[in-house]
Amino acid sequence: MRVSRATRTPLTVLGGFLGAGKTTLVNALLRQAQGLRLTVLVNDFGSVNIDAALIADRSGDTIALTNGCVCCAVGDDFAAGLAAALDRHPAPDHVLIECSGVADPAAIAAIAQVDPELTLAGVVVLADTTGVAARLADPLLADTLRRQLRAADLLVLTKTDLAGDTAGLAALLRPLAPRAAMARATHGDLPIAVALGEHAAGPRAAAPPARHGTLFASVTLRPRRPLDAAALRASLDALPDGVLRAKGILPLADGTQALVQRVGRRLEITCPAPDAPHALVLIGTGTAPWDAAAALRPLGLE
Ligand SMILES: [Zn+2]
Repeated sequence: MRVSRATRTPLTVLGGFLGAGKTTLVNALLRQAQGLRLTVLVNDFGSVNIDAALIADRSGDTIALTNGCVCCAVGDDFAAGLAAALDRHPAPDHVLIECSGVADPAAIAAIAQVDPELTLAGVVVLADTTGVAARLADPLLADTLRRQLRAADLLVLTKTDLAGDTAGLAALLRPLAPRAAMARATHGDLPIAVALGEHAAGPRAAAPPARHGTLFASVTLRPRRPLDAAALRASLDALPDGVLRAKGILPLADGTQALVQRVGRRLEITCPAPDAPHALVLIGTGTAPWDAAAALRPLGLE
């Protein structure tokens, strides 16, 4: 058992749907953190924690939480991760939890709030300006999105550079995030004082537990050989809509390695990529991730 500190460590919970820009924001905050000891817990839905690899590459103090989404998974990963964060020497000034893209941030905040060594600074939820309205209109996804928005103390509209006028979207989201202050960010350009500031506004109503464990699935593929870049791009462009997110680091035939990111129908393949184990994680609804895995097998991914 650990000895409680005189002052509790502030905790910020960062949520938002698959591909909303959470990892981008975490990296931007770590760049701004000069002097602030910020420990980041990263919960990725896939069995390989790509987000943690992308953060660790930028030399943050990062703890990866695997074995499923911590808001609903049975297990001690989350408690162990929190304990590891608080036992760091020197102790962190602030702990940031990056939720999985399907998590209910309120559930994670509630777990963290019972820890006597922590105090909740706020729940920050990101909404992808280019995709959130369509996701909310999808009956399979709406409950997950609505939970995330409802939990927000600070709602951040992301990718605003890719969208036109966001006033209509802000009006759509306002009643869904009744407790939230609103901000906008592009490429994670949110001041750290805003992101990690005191936002938590009183106790939160308990919500019934999320059941997304059966709704969302992830498949992790590994390359058998370096991949042809053009064929990879064509195959990823052709994936079914049920694949909500694809991300990974893969070796290319020209000897380089690429960071692959697909959010909805938007695909980015960038070189160079961070040094990390080669894998591609597919996250989606129903059988879509397995259908996609079958479609990608001829490339040399299995
Ligand atoms: Zn969960």
